[in-house]
Amino acid sequence: MIEIEQRLIKQEHWPRKCPVSIIPRYITIHEMNTWQDAEACAKYAARSLDPSAAHIYVDECQAIQIIPLDRCAQACGDRDGSGNRESISIEICRSEAPGNLYYQAMANTIVLVKQLMDQLQIAPDHVVRHYDWTGANCPKRMLKEGLWSVFLRSLFDEKGGNV
Ligand SMILES: [Zn+2]
Repeated sequence: MIEIEQRLIKQEHWPRKCPVSIIPRYITIHEMNTWQDAEACAKYAARSLDPSAAHIYVDECQAIQIIPLDRCAQACGDRDGSGNRESISIEICRSEAPGNLYYQAMANTIVLVKQLMDQLQIAPDHVVRHYDWTGANCPKRMLKEGLWSVFLRSLFDEKGGNV
């Protein structure tokens, strides 16, 4: 179980960041391509004028949510497609950090995804990569290291979180 810290963006920013209400049917995994932690990534995404942001940012020690789960995030680059309009976007942080921080962030993400699958009644075959929506090279490190199948398998592992 991982606690999701709520740092939701102000409603006045909804028209830019999360203009549409949604019923989530997918979970989409992304990576931030930075050494920075969830705190820094979430802060940056919340403040940025760029409409693109994810719902939740995860690192080796926490998960920070900035967009309500019943609003869209626009991180999938598929305009009004199912990525942006039917999926919860999760950013794994630390993918360019030294040591094991990235793998620990990934382990936390597995715990988080399991929770959200339970909470939102999302089927395992609806847990996808940004890559699956548009062919984008994201999550970049997971793709490069061939870790997606490990990630998916871990969702079925009783203990979970052990990459
Ligand atoms: Zn992405």
